[in-house]
Amino acid sequence: MTDEIGSQKTILIIEDNPANLELFKALLAPAGHTIVDAPTGKDGIDRATQALPNLILLDIGLPDMSGLNVAKTLKEKDETRHIPIVALSAHAMPGDAEKAIGAGCNGYITKPIDTRAFLKTVVSFITN
Ligand code: MN
Repeated sequence: MTDEIGSQKTILIIEDNPANLELFKALLAPAGHTIVDAPTGKDGIDRATQALPNLILLDIGLPDMSGLNVAKTLKEKDETRHIPIVALSAHAMPGDAEKAIGAGCNGYITKPIDTRAFLKTVVSFITN
């Protein structure tokens, strides 16, 4: 798992809901990961390009643009296309996971999150 020394990663959380952001930070903090956050799609793309995180957690419902377009943009950029993206969506509509994967996301989590499943998914993307 991720609690061995030297396994800490940088995780970018693109999320506009402060309560969700705090929850995700609280869940990821015990493992010692460096958390970078952004409240909008534009900020998220900038942060991803600057920080080159090991994983991006991407809210689909952002104030300035769809998370799907954030994913597409990041997957079109040479600097960021290799970074795994896990979509976070409150819209549990049939086909939403497929849309996220189609936009370039590598995984999909439905909100409200199941904390155990959330951590399991995160670990699966940052464990080499
Ligand atoms: Mn949102």
